[in-house]
Amino acid sequence: MATYTNVGNSHCNSCLNPMEVFDSVGGDAFPTPGKVSICSFCGQLSVFDDNLNLRAMTEEEEKEIKTYHPLEYRMLMSIKKLIEIKNKMK
Ligand SMILES: [Zn+2]
Repeated sequence: MATYTNVGNSHCNSCLNPMEVFDSVGGDAFPTPGKVSICSFCGQLSVFDDNLNLRAMTEEEEKEIKTYHPLEYRMLMSIKKLIEIKNKMK
């Protein structure tokens, strides 16, 4: 069963759309510092900072995920691609 956490006033750094709920695939649905988020509006990859605000993912962090978590990286890239395709069809 899916669980969601209301995260209040976080927003995407790229498109500025609000992120009101946090959902997790295959894990707990609680945002914690360092957890990765993907914007459902534009596909931007973000990371929760120590105050649980979203900031853009750095190139180094993206490389780290690609190197040490290749499966998760491929999943993120697939989701990002789907969001981009959805946006082109609008
Ligand atoms: Zn966005």
